[in-house]
Amino acid sequence: MPTSTGIASRLAAVRERVDAAATAAGRDPADVRVLLATKTQDAATVREAVAAASDLAAAAGDDRPVLVGENRVQELTAKAPDLADLVAAGRLEVHMIGHLQRNKINATLATASCVETVDSLALAEAVAARCARDGRVLDVLVQVNVSGEESKSGVAPDAAAALAADVAALAPLRLRGFMTIGARSDDDAVVRAGFARLRTVRDEVLASGAPGTGEARELSMGMTGDLELAVAEGATIVRVGTAVFGARPAPR
Ligand SMILES: *Cc1c(COP(=O)(O)O)cnc(C)c1O
Repeated sequence: MPTSTGIASRLAAVRERVDAAATAAGRDPADVRVLLATKTQDAATVREAVAAASDLAAAAGDDRPVLVGENRVQELTAKAPDLADLVAAGRLEVHMIGHLQRNKINATLATASCVETVDSLALAEAVAARCARDGRVLDVLVQVNVSGEESKSGVAPDAAAALAADVAALAPLRLRGFMTIGARSDDDAVVRAGFARLRTVRDEVLASGAPGTGEARELSMGMTGDLELAVAEGATIVRVGTAVFGARPAPR
């Protein structure tokens, strides 16, 4: 189990990695947010990490809510009651970063304020219908499979701009950008090319002027192992688990 100081100092080290990568790329470090990928971590650990992240952000003059990402609806729902006060106070924003099944939409929307994993029009329409019923607006990212690896979700890069335009046209959804998981490769050039591809898709969609696409600036890409490459290619959100919380138990 990581100790309190462990989480805070590891988070600070991640922030330094991000800042260094941004500076090296000629970018403003403030343009890259660190989302805590909290799968398998219990609510107490998440709270500890959110507190540490809040302190770190405050020290940098950033008073935006801390971003947390969950992969599984079951975990999202289980931790929600223990995090509700932070969400209500505007200190925490929860994103869905795992594959979303349509029968889990209601449970997801009860807690998440952003779904980063919209990868089909059918899913987007189902989410939009639920939002319309609730009279709410939801931030979404379109997930793109830049590596083409079969194990990964996401729309194919060539189809991403068209899907984004369709998603952006659904009134209850606010298209905020794009998300990807980097290629599983030891070759930095391969990983980096995938991140560059996501940026190209984003730029194409922003330039299209299609209705509802004007705010689609976010690039959620980069994790513990490849965040420098993602920041170099324009990431605005890096999703970090292992570097903050330590290694996870092997998936069942
Ligand atoms: C687990 C996970 C992360 C974080 O991965 P680490 O390698 O532990 O930093 C980021 N994004 C998604 C979608 C994940 O499932």
